[in-house]
Amino acid sequence: MSKYDCLIIGSGLFGSVFAYKAARAGKNVLVIDKRPYLGGNVYCENVEGINVHKYGAHIFHTSNKTVWDFVNSFVPFNRYTNSPVANYKGNLYNLPFNMNTFYALWGVKTPDEAKEKIEQQCREAGITEPKNLEEQAISLVGRDIYEILIKGYTEKQWGRDCKDLPAFIIKRLPVRFTFDNNYFNDNYQGIPVGGYNKLIDGLLEGIETKTGTDFFEDRSYWKSNTDKIVFTGKIDEFYDYQFGKLEYRTVRFETETLECENYQGNAVVNYTDASVPYTRIIEHKHFEFGNQPKTVVSKEYSAEWSDGADPFYPVNDEKNTILYNKYYELAKKENNVIFGGRLAEYKYYDMDKVIEKALFCFRDGIE
Ligand SMILES: Cc1cc2nc3c(=O)[nH]c(=O)nc-3n(C[C@H](O)[C@H](O)[C@H](O)COP(=O)(O)OP(=O)(O)OC[C@H]3O[C@@H](n4cnc5c(N)ncnc54)[C@H](O)[C@@H]3O)c2cc1C
Repeated sequence: MSKYDCLIIGSGLFGSVFAYKAARAGKNVLVIDKRPYLGGNVYCENVEGINVHKYGAHIFHTSNKTVWDFVNSFVPFNRYTNSPVANYKGNLYNLPFNMNTFYALWGVKTPDEAKEKIEQQCREAGITEPKNLEEQAISLVGRDIYEILIKGYTEKQWGRDCKDLPAFIIKRLPVRFTFDNNYFNDNYQGIPVGGYNKLIDGLLEGIETKTGTDFFEDRSYWKSNTDKIVFTGKIDEFYDYQFGKLEYRTVRFETETLECENYQGNAVVNYTDASVPYTRIIEHKHFEFGNQPKTVVSKEYSAEWSDGADPFYPVNDEKNTILYNKYYELAKKENNVIFGGRLAEYKYYDMDKVIEKALFCFRDGIE
């Protein structure tokens, strides 16, 4: 007899939601994580009383009422609304592109004036079949928005010239002809009051967990102690990289505590000018309307992933998709292993989507 009904590898949102459902269904569950703490990428570190989003700014947003009610049953969410500001050569513009942005760019005051300006620039560019990301962006929003708000930021994010990036990366660029700085269109949005660790603590309450424990250090021991495995780590690592390594983009964070109460007046400021090496500065206290005497800011530098760095964004190009599909074929043949979450499925998931997926996988795989 195995010691556990279910061993969950990884305590991020996928693993924690799955663990919660399995434990509630009466299963004997163990969650392990190789990091020294639980929560995966939503883990927050408390610095000077401020919840610092250690693995990048995380803003919860969803239109799925079931998911919203589910997360709120563990911790209430505050009214934080993401309204990023872009800094281009010292000038500030509201994001997403909306009437405030158009007023700052061109002094236009009505939606008709703004539409005419954009349409005129799209017409002047005369691009009918965009061959790369630059042409795609200009054909959608015109040259000014592209040059000031898209080009530098995108080139830093991908480490490549926009002319060398495929057009499909940008399918559409939402343009809003209202004075609305809310970045997301979802019905619900916010940050857990007291930080994301409260959500993870709620999900994992009463469940056995082991941190600082890497599954690959003793995989036969773990396999022999459980009936079922839920794996949320890297799928290529699970198969010893036998077909090669999947590629990622990563982000390097430079985080510092500043002796001032309010550094930039907003949680998120994007730097869209190519000459500034970082993409964004996050001021963490503003996610929770903090009034601590100090503040903590993180500069984000986008970078190519290599061993030792955090694998953040899968590179879903043709080469990596072919490689992932080879691993996926092996995964499909496993009887007792469920692969879930952003690393095991090699897919970018927002938090609400990964929760939705874990709830679905639980019903599918265990019940
Ligand atoms: C920079 C960044 C910003 C983001 N911002 C947002 C946002 O604003 N809003 C939003 O909705 N979503 C955001 N996301 C997406 C969000 O982070 C994911 O939806 C979520 O983290 C996915 O959870 P997961 O459980 O799949 O993966 P993770 O949170 O990565 O959890 C996987 C866990 O598995 C552990 N693990 C891996 N291998 C092993 C092993 N061999 N043994 C033991 N443990 C192992 C890892 O240590 C990790 O804790 C962002 C993502 C990134 C990268």
